[in-house]
Amino acid sequence: MSCVFVARATPVEPRARLASSRRGTRSLSRPSAAPKVRASYAMAPTVLATAPPVPIMVNDLTGKMGRAVAETVVGRDKSQCFLVPVAFSGSAKPAVDVGGVVVEIKSIREDAGAALEDLKKRYPGMIVVDYTLPAAVNHNAELYVKHNTPFVMGTTGGDRTKLLTDVTAAKLAAVIAPQMGKQVVAFQAAMKLMAENFPGAFKGYTLEVTESHQTSKVDTSGTAKAIVQSFNDLGCGFDIKDVTLVRDVPTQLEKMNVPEEFLLGHAYHTYKLKSPDNTVFFEFQHNVCGRSIYAEGTVDAALFLSAKVTGGGETVYDMIDVLKEGGMVTN
Ligand code: NAD
Repeated sequence: MSCVFVARATPVEPRARLASSRRGTRSLSRPSAAPKVRASYAMAPTVLATAPPVPIMVNDLTGKMGRAVAETVVGRDKSQCFLVPVAFSGSAKPAVDVGGVVVEIKSIREDAGAALEDLKKRYPGMIVVDYTLPAAVNHNAELYVKHNTPFVMGTTGGDRTKLLTDVTAAKLAAVIAPQMGKQVVAFQAAMKLMAENFPGAFKGYTLEVTESHQTSKVDTSGTAKAIVQSFNDLGCGFDIKDVTLVRDVPTQLEKMNVPEEFLLGHAYHTYKLKSPDNTVFFEFQHNVCGRSIYAEGTVDAALFLSAKVTGGGETVYDMIDVLKEGGMVTN
């Protein structure tokens, strides 16, 4: 028997589609052990019928992810959100045009607090999106906390414990998630759910894991680590050190079939399971090209957060929270 579950983002045609449903994600437990401050108020609806468009500030939209998010904001229906024409970067830069919106790029090191206060007055209900550098995570979060500005933190790394502690202590609304790709988050959560419900179901099976990313990525994919944890809970006994990391271009092109235009931005993962007697095979894949999956998830997270703030929310959320409230539907 051979069983293949494949999920790919554009431009490769999927061989099979992973089934997902809102009902299926409702009872999922969280993939991360991030400390949570639970909401003590009734959940606000994610989309408020009469809500004005949400102003979204993207820091830093001269970076790759920031740019992708800014383009997604501009591409959304004008009734949903709009791009704030000011952004912070590590240093002041010439203004950039994003789909006709000219954005002034200010240095986050020079009077950023005063600039944030001014923007909050000019754009009531503003949500900040942060895609900067791991080294900037805590400093930037401190700025948003100090100026009581709800934010979506897509940037990975930094001191995550301090980040969560700072935000929860301030009772500020924020979505913090190292993986904003909603469908990937749903797959991760489904694997975790399977492991919790059927521990040991794949006992004795051998697992092979291969992941491919742009050559500049040195560490093993965090998503691969989370999925391997679920396979181990299912009984595989796989050492994360045995993941095959593909970082060389010839292998990516010839063996992994990564399209050439996505060599600098892709996240391919394959998990192969084999029964002890070599008669049963399973294969799971999730292959992402480009950044649109993360950018769409980030804008959905910003809209979700805006509704929470409007509803009086004061807590830290992750992408599972966004998915549970209907965020699987990409607008
Ligand atoms: P990038 O290097 O292209 O962009 C980073 C930008 O941040 C640069 O323009 C830099 O000038 C700017 N910057 C540096 N310090 C700053 C500061 N203190 N304040 C404001 N801007 C500052 O990087 P990228 O590919 O856009 O990735 C950014 C981050 O997003 C990384 O941590 C990456 O791992 C993460 N990421 C997360 C997801 C997700 O789903 N959550 C997806 C993709 C990437």
